[in-house]
Amino acid sequence: MIHTTKSSAEEILKKHFGYSAFRSHQKEIIEATLNGEHTLVLMPTGGGKSLCFQVPALMLEGLTLVVSPLISLMKDQVDALKANGIAAEFLNSSQSIEEQRSIENRLIKGEIKLLYTAPERLVTFEFRTLLKQIQLSLVAIDEAHCISQWGHDFRQEYTQLGFLTEMNIPVMALTATADKICRRDITSQLNIENANIFIASFDRPNLSLSVKPGQKKLEQLLQFLKQHHKDSGIIYCLSRNGTEQLSAKLNEKGYQTAYYHAGLESHLKNKVQDDFLKDETLIIVATVAFGMGIDKSNVRFIVHYNLPKNLESYYQEIGRAGRDGLPSNTMLFYSYADVMKMKSWADDSGQPELQGNKLKRMQQYAEASICRRRMLLSYFGEHYEKDCGNCDVCKNPPKYMDGKELAQKALSTIERMHRKGVAPKLTLLAEVLRGSGKREIFDAGLDKLSTYGIGRDIPFLDWQQYLVQMLHLGLFEIAYDQNNTLKTTDAGWRVLKGAQVQLTQPINYKQKEASRKANNKAEIPTIYDGDLFEALRTMRKAIAVEQNVPPFVIFHDSTLKAIAAHKPTTLNAIGEMPGIGEHKLNNYGNKIMEAVNEYIKIQSTIKEQDN
Ligand code: ADP
Ligand code: ZN
Repeated sequence: MIHTTKSSAEEILKKHFGYSAFRSHQKEIIEATLNGEHTLVLMPTGGGKSLCFQVPALMLEGLTLVVSPLISLMKDQVDALKANGIAAEFLNSSQSIEEQRSIENRLIKGEIKLLYTAPERLVTFEFRTLLKQIQLSLVAIDEAHCISQWGHDFRQEYTQLGFLTEMNIPVMALTATADKICRRDITSQLNIENANIFIASFDRPNLSLSVKPGQKKLEQLLQFLKQHHKDSGIIYCLSRNGTEQLSAKLNEKGYQTAYYHAGLESHLKNKVQDDFLKDETLIIVATVAFGMGIDKSNVRFIVHYNLPKNLESYYQEIGRAGRDGLPSNTMLFYSYADVMKMKSWADDSGQPELQGNKLKRMQQYAEASICRRRMLLSYFGEHYEKDCGNCDVCKNPPKYMDGKELAQKALSTIERMHRKGVAPKLTLLAEVLRGSGKREIFDAGLDKLSTYGIGRDIPFLDWQQYLVQMLHLGLFEIAYDQNNTLKTTDAGWRVLKGAQVQLTQPINYKQKEASRKANNKAEIPTIYDGDLFEALRTMRKAIAVEQNVPPFVIFHDSTLKAIAAHKPTTLNAIGEMPGIGEHKLNNYGNKIMEAVNEYIKIQSTIKEQDN
């Protein structure tokens, strides 16, 4: 194995990427690679997989080949490397023949350190002939789960990559999918059974987790968005129609959003994606079709307006927030109506049992009364010793109460409705308990029931939450095959006869919002200067437009925030900021210095005027 020992991995990290320390596992992975070992790297989205091959690529002589399935991602990654002064290119069908020839020539001359390409090109005769003329020192296979039929994104072309090991160079397979079967599939198909496997924690501590009852969703969403002024985020909806409607409603409220779903024409899709990447559109309301292939580091929030199918999708989707490691918020709306929709989807999915079970786990998560992160991580096989402190359950632990009387009121009303020949449903039941004056209640004679109005003292929304809890405690069930009629179960009969029940106090989301805000302040101290941050954002935007790349390719938000916190006024001090390597310092150091000095000058003038 030939590699230069001129610079250490840390020196490369600082010089080219502007970071001063490796994250967990990165160093070990790099060392194993430099030792010529094959590796399998499992890290969550945003965990820092790219540096695992980018750093050795700069330390090894010759070329590092990066196999990546998404053409759209290649360009951003290559742009980001170029912004750091690294000789990187991609080869794919979006380029003209001339462009491709010129890159091939530079490859043969050894002028390129990293080449990104798609698997279908890699297996062609032409490409393999080209490879013979190049000194290749490392192959990295990104999104390696695509090789497995068991993974969630199987791609035929990936199954032909086994020949890579014949070249006697280290192969690094990287993925964010941790599943054991899939893992075995990857190493066996790539012929790297002896690979060193590195599994990073899937925890993303910077993401706050919260679940809200699916009532008054728009109101709650607007409240949430107030905390995210000028932030970039994604709101996931179940249906195409849903995305269009919600986007329109938000636009009416003064937010500038765009919608995205699989039904859009491809030029529109591209435009929406592009505007999002470039911070032209801050909020995208989308179906789950949006996000794959979007590697935007400063997504500050993810909202699930509807319930996801399973925890895998949920985790992947919220994982699109906070790739830069800064605090980001996620919020999921949980309603029974969504559960029913998903249930019928699962029934028709061809794998009703599997999908139904996955949905159940999703529901259990949404209803959790223990730390949500612990639950989520345990689902992925990681056992967390402590409560996280960054989920809604940790911040506002549920308060238990004696629920026997409430449950008896509800259950006896269910039974009385049955006797009257009226099918009890959740909403109707709550209305009868509340003594609602609705026409249909009088028409059906429900106002004559002895329990009509016995729950008048409890607000309608609270009743709904209590009833959902009772449902989940199994006191009654919904007969899907009988037009969703509620039926008392054996457990319910036991309660009617006097058994104890514990319920949790309903969530008052207005109040909760207020306490959450207070919490947030303590957790995320605004240690940086917000006005300077805005000024730096404007500067970044101008550079990005000039170079036609997304702003985060120039600087991540975390870099700008560090500058806004430390206000460095010399090039040396600017070089110390995270994310600023030599190349960026040379290119933009002066611009930053000017911006900071200008800002300091204005501030001091304002102060003088105040005095
Ligand atoms: P992944 O490919 O695993 O989703 P990336 O490689 O895109 O993640 O890394 C996510 C973010 O973390 C990027 O913005 C990257 O620059 C940053 N990052 C990675 N490693 C480090 C490190 N050692 N120090 C600081 N930032 C890092
Ligand atoms: Zn928690």
